[in-house]
Amino acid sequence: MRRLAILGSTGSVGLSTLDVVARHRADVEVVALTANTNDVSLYEQCLTVKPSFAVMVQPESGERLRQRLRAVGCKTEVLIGTEALNEIAAHPAVDTVMAAIVGGAGLLSTFSAVKAGKRVLLANKESLVMMGQLLMEIAKSNGAQILPIDSEHNAIFQCMPTNFLDGLEKVGVDRIILTASGGPFLSRANEDLSHVTPEEACAHPNWSMGRKISVDSSTMMNKGLEIIEACWLFGTSPEDIEVVVHPQSVVHSMVRYVDGSVLAQLGNPDMRTPIAHALFWPQRRYSGVAPLNMLQIGELTFQTPCMEQFPCLRLCFEAARGGINTTISLNAANEVAVAAFLEQRIRYTDIARVIEDTLTDSSSGELISIDAIVIADALARENAEKRVLTLQRVI
Ligand code: NAD
Ligand code: MG
Repeated sequence: MRRLAILGSTGSVGLSTLDVVARHRADVEVVALTANTNDVSLYEQCLTVKPSFAVMVQPESGERLRQRLRAVGCKTEVLIGTEALNEIAAHPAVDTVMAAIVGGAGLLSTFSAVKAGKRVLLANKESLVMMGQLLMEIAKSNGAQILPIDSEHNAIFQCMPTNFLDGLEKVGVDRIILTASGGPFLSRANEDLSHVTPEEACAHPNWSMGRKISVDSSTMMNKGLEIIEACWLFGTSPEDIEVVVHPQSVVHSMVRYVDGSVLAQLGNPDMRTPIAHALFWPQRRYSGVAPLNMLQIGELTFQTPCMEQFPCLRLCFEAARGGINTTISLNAANEVAVAAFLEQRIRYTDIARVIEDTLTDSSSGELISIDAIVIADALARENAEKRVLTLQRVI
């Protein structure tokens, strides 16, 4: 029996997790659900799943949820505020945590779950970009298992030998090949994208996801963040990771070995596969995903990504070679820029500009404490916000 807390249960990964769990009620108890502001959705989830706890970050929404659940006699205890997220992530009644909050907002709860030695199903890639070294060290010393939910990293994990943490060279891994769909603008290499709307940027050809990661996929920032994520998860460096554009999104990533073998994981693009894999690992259980029909797919193609077309990917490769301070700035600037773009305060093409200018400001040096990381993140956000303001005037 797994005792699960789903952090970010109202989001895209959260909903896919609930879908998988609904197929295995006898084996998974949902102890806690959490959301930021969406009390309507969390209310429905509480009635269906009946968790012991529901956490709402925003106080008014939390109060509303508490009153509505009380009115119908639902016994779920409602906790309110960000601190409650961290408490639930480390709660003794929980052994498995789905970390599916989007962005830096998921940092402290992920940290809390890892520190408490839980099995952490990690969708929140931003926490590895912001504190990869610290997170991996704490996981090792506190006995936490970090299992990747990001489809590419879950694929790589499936293609790795079980003892990969001994070092990739030792186990004969030559390189990691990360696949990327190329997003909605892949075929628009020579076009001016400055007037792209949030709706166009969020219209991913293969995956249905939250708005932030959808924009990241369109700029290929998402792939860049995934390079950094892979470095920490698999103990490697950007030089040993190759990005290959694969528009069909069927091969989720590959591992090349020194004997010439390449192992790949294939499947329909549906997050329920990596979620079921990590939730029940090392067992395999039904996820609800349709079997892959190779005859229907017919053709799998691969191409080199163009760094001029996707400046965010180039910036990520550069940042990945810098220290943790640089990747914190990279992530913070991207979150600020994407939010500003979604609010139509800056142009689509300004996203890379904000990131590049914020990165220039970032100082180098290693960060080893969570407090130092939180401060560096706040500083970088402030710088990025200033840059957004200068661009906003000319839009
Ligand atoms: P989403 O926007 O659909 O959902 C985000 C969830 O986080 C919601 O439940 C929301 O209530 C919660 N949240 C947002 N801001 C918060 C805050 N300040 N405090 C507490 N909770 C907050 O996002 P998503 O697409 O499900 O992505 C979640 C994470 O998973 C991201 O890190 C993303 O990169 C990663 N991921 C997503 C997919 C996908 O298919 N959607 C695939 C791979 C990785
Ligand atoms: Mg991914």
